[in-house]
Amino acid sequence: MWIDIESFQFVENTISIYLELLKNYDATGVALQSYLKRSPSDLLHLLEEGAKVRLVKGAYRQNEANAFQSIDKINSNFSKLMKMLFENNGNTDIFAIATHDSRLINEAIELSEKFGTDKRFEFQLLMGIHDEMKKMLVERRFKVSEYIPYGSQWLPYSIRRIRERKRNILLLARSIIQP
Ligand SMILES: Cc1cc2nc3c(=O)[nH]c(=O)nc-3n(C[C@H](O)[C@H](O)[C@H](O)COP(=O)(O)OP(=O)(O)OC[C@H]3O[C@@H](n4cnc5c(N)ncnc54)[C@H](O)[C@@H]3O)c2cc1C
Repeated sequence: MWIDIESFQFVENTISIYLELLKNYDATGVALQSYLKRSPSDLLHLLEEGAKVRLVKGAYRQNEANAFQSIDKINSNFSKLMKMLFENNGNTDIFAIATHDSRLINEAIELSEKFGTDKRFEFQLLMGIHDEMKKMLVERRFKVSEYIPYGSQWLPYSIRRIRERKRNILLLARSIIQP
């Protein structure tokens, strides 16, 4: 079970609740956002505790004090965190690279070649986005999970996806119309 991280004010609590949960349920993981300036130190702490981490860029509007605003900085922090995950020799080798950014996906492939196949990481992508990339990754024998939204909170979720990319309104319309 993967736990999402939402806006900045929930980060501290989400991580501590997750670490409590991890003591009894080891098949659990938590998201970490590369746009947050605090994430490298959170990641160090999480890895020390044997946590499983899903790395994402971050989907909520955050202020400059807490989060990088430029895509270059968000991406380079993502690269830095991803390298930390591959380099980690701690209690867990399980982690997830959750992005559709082909440059970062290629970087992850290079890191996996460099650090060997014992890292049990997986790529995670949203349903309906970059399906051709998922196919390519599976063909190259990488593990790929697709994130499928369901449940009562579908509207705020869909609004976030539309905010990221206006064209997703078509994806949403299609999923409502299709049986
Ligand atoms: C499995 C999973 C779990 C996530 N969990 C969290 C979480 O817990 N907390 C959180 O804050 N965020 C979460 N996110 C969202 C994440 O933070 C980003 O907002 C989202 O993934 C878009 O960033 P990107 O890494 O794909 O890179 P971007 O730089 O945004 O995009 C790279 C390329 O991917 C494609 N793309 C990206 N997004 C879309 C889209 N919505 N529609 C169509 N094409 C797109 C485009 O081609 C774009 O050029 C999650 C994402 C995934 C895949």
